[in-house]
Amino acid sequence: MRWYKHIVLVGLLILYGFNNELVAQVKSVGVKTIVIDAGHGGKDPGAVGNNLKEKDITLSIALKLGELIKKHFPDVKVVYTRSTDEFIELFRRAKIANNAKADLFISIHVNSNKKPDPSGAETYVMGLSKSNGNLDVAMTENAVILKEDDYKNQYEGFDPHSPEAYIIFSLYQNANLDLGLTFSSMIQEEYRKINREDRGVKQAGFLVLWKTAMPSVLTEVGFISNPEDAKYLAKEKNHWLIAKSLFNSFSKYKGQLEGKIYHLLSSNDLPKIVENEDTTKEVHKNIPKDTIDKSINTIAINKPKQEQEQKQKDTTVINDATNDFQKIAEKLVNKAVQDTILFWVQIAS
Ligand SMILES: [Zn+2]
Repeated sequence: MRWYKHIVLVGLLILYGFNNELVAQVKSVGVKTIVIDAGHGGKDPGAVGNNLKEKDITLSIALKLGELIKKHFPDVKVVYTRSTDEFIELFRRAKIANNAKADLFISIHVNSNKKPDPSGAETYVMGLSKSNGNLDVAMTENAVILKEDDYKNQYEGFDPHSPEAYIIFSLYQNANLDLGLTFSSMIQEEYRKINREDRGVKQAGFLVLWKTAMPSVLTEVGFISNPEDAKYLAKEKNHWLIAKSLFNSFSKYKGQLEGKIYHLLSSNDLPKIVENEDTTKEVHKNIPKDTIDKSINTIAINKPKQEQEQKQKDTTVINDATNDFQKIAEKLVNKAVQDTILFWVQIAS
């Protein structure tokens, strides 16, 4: 055996150990920090219509989601990109997530259309738009950078209104995308459970998702331009329902990555809200924080039969999703193994 064959052999043996370690590493990853991004804020109201402002609705849902996670997952760190009505640049939102070394990023938005007909909820991951509709949503959301002082430098000269500029997102591909898609599907499934119209999981070039270094999604919870959706979004109890959907998606996603089954919330676990008027204007400020904590019931021990059956269904979904995750993990390991083999062959020659 020639000397270089020994090197290759030793290399492969090390690689075998490394491979096992990597599998263990991928399996031990979890969701310890989540960044919740309430879209828009301050001088940027986002979409407006039917007496509502997007920035108020997104903040109300974001804070409620954060409260639910803090309450039921005390070990998870919740980071908000904003917790008040303030303007935060898109690039800074990604920076907050990266600095926090977050494991998951969720950006909450409300859709708008020139026509009043479109309605329902959809969730996006980063990528090239496959339809003009998706592109329009991304262009509308990205246009906010024009309100930022230094947008030309911060986004590498990106023009949010030029369809051609979006072609760069065709190159966007990474391992976080698969996990983002998994999380997005879970969100849409939870929306269906609260009878929200499901517009599906989509891809488009959202600048807020561009530079985040973790699985990232942007969810559009409804259309402010649609009278029925606007009526729904005006009610604070529905903000809790949407927050519950996002919480349950988070719970399933975390469970899938950690090989566990975490509890899911039902509507009964949410605070009872008596709506006086259909207005959400700064509705999040009307509930003192300690009231929120007290009013969220902990999970009842004796679950009604129907709920148990639902849990059974959810478990099946989680098992399916776990299989998906294992496939992704294997893919990552194989890629790393391939890269390493290449490295060793180069040394040997
Ligand atoms: Zn928005």
